[in-house]
Amino acid sequence: MFLKNVTDIFRTVTFRLTLWYMVLFGALSIAVFLLVYVSLAWHLSKQVDEELLATAKEFNALYSEHGVEALQAEFQREAESRGVRRVFFLLLSGSGEVLASSDTRHWNAGELLEFRGVGASAGKPVFRTFHLADERGKVRVVLMPTGDGRLLELGFTLHDSELMMERYRETFGTAVVIMLVCGGLLGWLLARKAMAGVQRVTSTAAKIREGSLASRVAPGGEGLEIDNLVRTFNDMLDRVEALVNELKEVTDNIAHDLRSPITRIRGIAETTLMGRASIEDFQDMAAAIIEESDRLIEMINTMLEITKTEAGVAELASERVDVQEIAAEAVDLFRPLAEDKQVAVKLSGSPDPVFVMGDRAKLQRAVANLLDNAINYTPSGGRVTVSVHSTPESVRLQIADTGCGISEEELPHIFKRFYRGDRSRSTPGSGLGLSLALAIIKAHHGEIRVESSPGKGSKFTIIIPSVYL
Ligand code: ADP
Repeated sequence: MFLKNVTDIFRTVTFRLTLWYMVLFGALSIAVFLLVYVSLAWHLSKQVDEELLATAKEFNALYSEHGVEALQAEFQREAESRGVRRVFFLLLSGSGEVLASSDTRHWNAGELLEFRGVGASAGKPVFRTFHLADERGKVRVVLMPTGDGRLLELGFTLHDSELMMERYRETFGTAVVIMLVCGGLLGWLLARKAMAGVQRVTSTAAKIREGSLASRVAPGGEGLEIDNLVRTFNDMLDRVEALVNELKEVTDNIAHDLRSPITRIRGIAETTLMGRASIEDFQDMAAAIIEESDRLIEMINTMLEITKTEAGVAELASERVDVQEIAAEAVDLFRPLAEDKQVAVKLSGSPDPVFVMGDRAKLQRAVANLLDNAINYTPSGGRVTVSVHSTPESVRLQIADTGCGISEEELPHIFKRFYRGDRSRSTPGSGLGLSLALAIIKAHHGEIRVESSPGKGSKFTIIIPSVYL
């Protein structure tokens, strides 16, 4: 268990980001260190060489003007002022014999000899670095020809520069450790801040798993990506909650609304069986049962169609559809029903074709449902007018009637599944017509608007974007 917790920590984004920051800070500081180190070492060695050369030139000038004695005295004086353990000066004959020198007691004769072995090349000064056997470390030596066949040999220990470089290495070692700690800390803080949103999403998901579907992730302002995640997650939860509620509602409705026709079917069968039924009674019973069953099947099919259309799983054709033609066909189709009810139905406005991209059959169904309602809820002597208008943005199909209208209290509910207005109870219907029409129009990215005044009539307007799909 403990081991699993530890390995889980290694797998967290926070841990990995922390590690990345440490590696990045470490690598960066080491790169900076190397750069500074190399350039410092180069400058220091250049400085020593320049100093050696300048001193050698001064000695050379003194030697050419005042001779060996003057040079000997200057060697002595200069070596004392600089420190006899740190510098040495020699004037050598062509054969390597020492003609003048500073105090070389602290310099190993073998070493001095070894330096001499370097020789000067083609009349130019030559630089070399040698290791001393003691704590002084390295010595930088220049050999410079004097012009009369002799050689000036000067040596400076590099102890000061070496010491400086060592201090630098030590300081930098500490700095790298501090940078690593800071990098790790910064990485950890940033990762924790960035991951806080994800953590909230996880704990909300856990709450939902335990049954609290109303839980939402609180916004934290960690940054656009996390804010987007939180928003999308909350939107998804809203949608899931709406679907679950809808499912509950549908289940309740099914239980309520399908029970009535089934009870009726049962009642018909029971009455026929209980009485002394003749063969005609049985035939009537069968006919009644078929009629009720058809209604039931129709209802179930419509419900399925609404659910599929709303969920976006019903396939929508994408074709050029003339809305004017749909309106005209619907008017023709419903004219016999309207005539039976003595309701005048007409198509008004210009007959020019008006196109949208969409599913012809489904749009026909939506228009038919609205027109059917308009005729059904308009008493005889009334009027139903269908018209089509188009604007650059949308196409509008309007169905206006002079029927009973819809009260203000009923208006917000008419698009709900199985909802039926009080005044429509006496007319046949399932309460699914408007739900299906709305689902279809929404699937075409459109809307249905309703204006109604009770007693005067209603106006349903389907609005579909001109270019859809
Ligand atoms: P149904 O017509 O089967 O009852 P709908 O879903 O088509 O179901 O309509 C829901 C309710 O909206 C109807 O019961 C009715 O009360 C009201 N309604 C719809 N269209 C009209 C209309 N044109 N005039 C008055 N009321 C209407």
